[in-house]
Amino acid sequence: MLGFTRKTPPVVYLGVPLLSTKLTRVDCNALLEKLTARIKLWTTATLSYAGRLQLIKSVLFSMQVYWSSMFVLPASVIRSLEGTLAAFLWRGSSMARHGAKVSWNHICYPKQEGGLGVKSIREWNMAATCKHLWRINTATGSIWTDWVKSELLKGNSIWRARVKGPVSWAWRKILESRIWFRGMFKSTIGSGANTSLWFDPWLPDGRSLINSYRARILASTGLPWDAKVDSIIQNGNWSFPAGHPDISAAWGSITFQPRVHRLDRLVWAGHHSGNFNIASAWDFIRRKRQTHPYACITWFPGHIPRHAFILWLAMRGRLATMDRPHVQRKVTVNVCVLCGVQPETHTHLFFQCGYSSALWVHLSTKAGAICPFSQWDDILQWASSNFHHKKNFSHNLACYALSTSVYLTYLQQQAHGSEYDQGGGHEDYKNYDAQP
Ligand SMILES: [Zn+2]
Repeated sequence: MLGFTRKTPPVVYLGVPLLSTKLTRVDCNALLEKLTARIKLWTTATLSYAGRLQLIKSVLFSMQVYWSSMFVLPASVIRSLEGTLAAFLWRGSSMARHGAKVSWNHICYPKQEGGLGVKSIREWNMAATCKHLWRINTATGSIWTDWVKSELLKGNSIWRARVKGPVSWAWRKILESRIWFRGMFKSTIGSGANTSLWFDPWLPDGRSLINSYRARILASTGLPWDAKVDSIIQNGNWSFPAGHPDISAAWGSITFQPRVHRLDRLVWAGHHSGNFNIASAWDFIRRKRQTHPYACITWFPGHIPRHAFILWLAMRGRLATMDRPHVQRKVTVNVCVLCGVQPETHTHLFFQCGYSSALWVHLSTKAGAICPFSQWDDILQWASSNFHHKKNFSHNLACYALSTSVYLTYLQQQAHGSEYDQGGGHEDYKNYDAQP
């Protein structure tokens, strides 16, 4: 009906290759070409870093909805995709592969954790792979899951399937996702008729008996490997096999009663509804960091994206100042282009330079936030400890004064020194209107 027969893997399902084969470089070239074509369309316009970041997020979103949810993407393809996006972010239309100011890995954290809120393709793809696992367990009436159950699982629980022998690459990844998300799936026991006694994760801690004990010990109970949980339920009560002290701790941990009039149900621990969604799986699997101390003063309500982006770079010391090694090589005079007196460093630009300190004092005074410090690190610390309340208007105003001062200083520095920052943000300093 859909172009495949029961005996051959569904290479194509609704027009897309599914899981019988690994996506090849050729398959993925189409994806890369589409991505590059979209980027080339955008680059006709002059965009700021923040504008490019926004476009990257939108293309990533559509990729996540479509490609990344449908396929298990090979690592090399993910690297190419992310490399293309990174080149576009940092170098714009030239798409040169050098000159990244911050590594892509650091960008792929939520803003509160110091990133730029970009979701890593790899982590999203892992979460999406887990969705296949969920569908195999829960979907009924789907051609794909029916095929998997009859041809790949042959009636067994997916928790029992082995990653051995000639299994396809994508199937292997789906089986591996059982380990990535261990503890997140839990079978709740109704009658016990549909839950594998040994292989399904139904113990209170989300583990299965096979993950908790040696096979030899489980076999000593005399219960077969295909036993269901209902084989240890009698008259609505537990009837644990007697005389197996090694497993008694597991039986002892079971404090709930079977509900024999209900069906067994698989529950996803990542969401209060018990139903799987990719976002919660992504949140589980992603790398996490502590809340970044300066996130609150960068991404406050009403922030201007291009200001926030430059502030984010300035906090990391990643703007092109002459103290940065790759910048130094291109210039002969290591002097601030704004005052022409002091060496140009981040600490000098923000805000020890005569030009920028006047700007900062002016804006911060207007915002009612008089800063007692002159060192960049002290200023950041002072701002984050005094102006971190999102719902406080005067806090927002102070943060606005800071990010605007940084941004205007950066624009001036770019305007005078753009010959040594070819990576440039393409910020339109000539037409910039300083008014909010
Ligand atoms: Zn200066």
